[in-house]
Order: sequence, then C-alpha cells, then structure tokens
Amino acid sequence: MTRSSLTHLECGACGAEHDASRLHNVCAHCGKPLLARYDLAAAGRSLTRESLRSRRTDLWRYSEVLPIADDANIVSLGEGSTPLVRAERLAGEIGCGELYIKDEAGNPTQSFKARGMAVAVSRAKELGVTRLAAPSAGNAGGALAAYATRAGLEAYLFMPRDTPRANVIEATFTGAHVRLVDGLITDCGAEVARGKESAGWFDVSTLKEPYRVEGKKTLGYELAEQLGWTLPDVIVYPTGGGTGLIGMWKAFAEMEALGWIGSGRPKMVTVQADGCAPIVTAFENGARFADEFPNAATIASGLRVPKAIGDFLILDALRESGGAAVAVSDADLIQGARDIARFEGIFACPEGGACVPAVRRLVADGTIGPADRVVIFNTAAGVKYLDTYTQ
Ligand SMILES: *Cc1c(COP(=O)(O)O)cnc(C)c1O
Repeated sequence: MTRSSLTHLECGACGAEHDASRLHNVCAHCGKPLLARYDLAAAGRSLTRESLRSRRTDLWRYSEVLPIADDANIVSLGEGSTPLVRAERLAGEIGCGELYIKDEAGNPTQSFKARGMAVAVSRAKELGVTRLAAPSAGNAGGALAAYATRAGLEAYLFMPRDTPRANVIEATFTGAHVRLVDGLITDCGAEVARGKESAGWFDVSTLKEPYRVEGKKTLGYELAEQLGWTLPDVIVYPTGGGTGLIGMWKAFAEMEALGWIGSGRPKMVTVQADGCAPIVTAFENGARFADEFPNAATIASGLRVPKAIGDFLILDALRESGGAAVAVSDADLIQGARDIARFEGIFACPEGGACVPAVRRLVADGTIGPADRVVIFNTAAGVKYLDTYTQ
C-alpha cells in the first residue's frame, strides 16, 4: 500500500497548527476539534480515481488521505465499501425523484461507527496509546471495544444506563471495561474527562481526537465513486455528534482539490429527534454554536447528543450548502424505519428511520425538488434495536 500524505493538524475553529506526529485531543489554544490536513498534491500522484479499481475494497483503499504512516499499524475488520441501494418503491411512496440508502449495517459491529473507530484506534496504536476511553450511548462502544481488542489495547466505556442492551452486551462480550452511568452521554463524557489523567486513558470521544472523522469521511469518497464521480443533490444525515456530516463535507473539499469533482456540493441536511435537537434549534436561530439541549430524550440513542463539540462545523456545512435542519418525532422516526423495511427490505435502525419523515418534509416544502438525487443513511442494523422496537 502507499503512504499517508498527512502533514499536520489544524484547528477547525481558530486555525492553529499542531504537530500530527504527536498525540492530541482538542486544540491546545481554543479547545475546539482538530482536523487532519494532507499534502493532496502528493496524495494525488498515486491516489487516482483509476487506481481505486484495483485496490482493496475496505476503506483503507484511501490510505494516502488517511493518517496511518505504517501499514503494520492498521487495525481492520473490513470496514467500509457498503452498498448504495436505490430505493424506488420508497421514493414512489414518498413522492421524491431518485432516492438512495447508503446501508451501513454491513460494517463490522453492524454500524458506521466502525469506520471512525478503525481509523482512530489504528492511529492511537501507532502513536503508542495502550488504553482508550469513550462515552457511548450506543454503537461507538461496540466499535471501540472491537477495534481495541483486535489491536491488543484496553477499552474503557461509560454508557448511559438506558443504552440499548445489545450495545452494552456487545461491548462487554468484546472485552471492554463497561461502566453504566445514571445520566446522558454528556455525563458519561464528564466521567471520561475526570478519570483520564489518573488512569492514563486516551479520550476517543467524538471529535475530541482528530481521526474518527477521517474514518467517517470515507462515506463521502464512497458516495462519489458509487455515483460515477458525481455528488447527490441532497444528503440527509441523522446527526448526533455530526462526525459523518463533517467528514463528508471535508471529503468533498479534498476530492475537489484532487481534481476528482467540481465545486458543486449537495444540500447538507441534519435530521434530529424533536426530543434532542440542539443543531436544529441553533440552525433556526442563526446561531454559530448550539446550546446544550435541555432534558434530552429520544429512543434513537445515536441521536441523543445534547451538546456536540463540532456544532459549528455542522452548522457551517448546513449553511454553506444551502441545506436544512429538521426535527422529527420518535413516532415518526419509528414509522420511517418501518417504511424502509416494508418498501425496501432493509431492517433499519431508528436513526436511519428518522431520514424518512425528514425527506417527506423537505419534499413538501420544496427543499427537495422532483428531479433531485437524494441520499439517506441506514447507520446501523435494526437487529441491534430489538428492545427499542418491542417496547
Ligand atoms: C452515532 C450514530 C449516529 C450519529 O452519528 P454522528 O456522526 O455522531 O452524528 C447515527 N446513527 C447511529 C446508529 C449511530 O450509532
């Protein structure tokens, strides 16, 4: 395989540069997320659209624009390269033009959290970390457990007590140290922050280290390739911490710099549950940052993130793209998952289900036009949510 063209880390807020050969969490100056920067001219000498045809099929095919210096440090379970499924029957029922579901259930650990954790754990291992810690309200826990175990590292997880049982059992089974917390993911994050100095944990919370977003950005590279090196007109993303949305937005800029796509961008749309909609509220208020959402509650555990450290990056992408932010009810998102199942044969997660009522709303208000190509995401397998679907 070819070399990473990683050059440095740059703060997404203040622009300060950080040495990428050292371990970092957030920006040392302003506490905001750090983003990986690459020498894209160098990357483009070996990484071409044509070269991808003969490469491995998992996300490590994009190694020039991923941060791992030495292939020996790659910890992989075959993540990425998920199908982009044309959803004609569901589109017909909703009344929108071309609809696709990026079905992420086929990833290792049955969710797209595998993309981010594969890259973050690989890079942490490369930089000498032995103990990793994270809060998780769901699938991040199972993914961290799996990749840490595979790398021979220890994982410490803090999960809200009402996290879906499958996630807790999966993480425990896969060798993580799991502590259940009476509270929300933000309370779990506070536990990680409190313990990390004394316990020697490296904090891999969403966007509190720079590389999970690098794994998630491969969603954007895959979409472009699967659509014949074009981008969709609208992307509807079930947003918790926003890693995938921020990642895809970054991937589009990188692909433009590589000369693979033009300057056009999809409308980026955040969908959240109405019981936890901090980004939707901030978008509607014209705010640069999102306030913590009070009394956050939704059965879509992946969307139960009352405060996201990457809020401004999400909001910037929504606004620059002419996109939108939509809140849907728990009843509607469950019905959305049922619609994906009964029209397309995909047993979707509640977070994926949330995209369906969002698309209905956007078709009704004209944000999605009749000829638009729309991509939604099934971010995890429905079988991980049996207790949610039977309660
Ligand atoms: C984590 C998660 C999300 C939200 O993803 P972000 O990139 O953190 O916004 C959506 N759906 C599922 C199933 C998740 O596990």
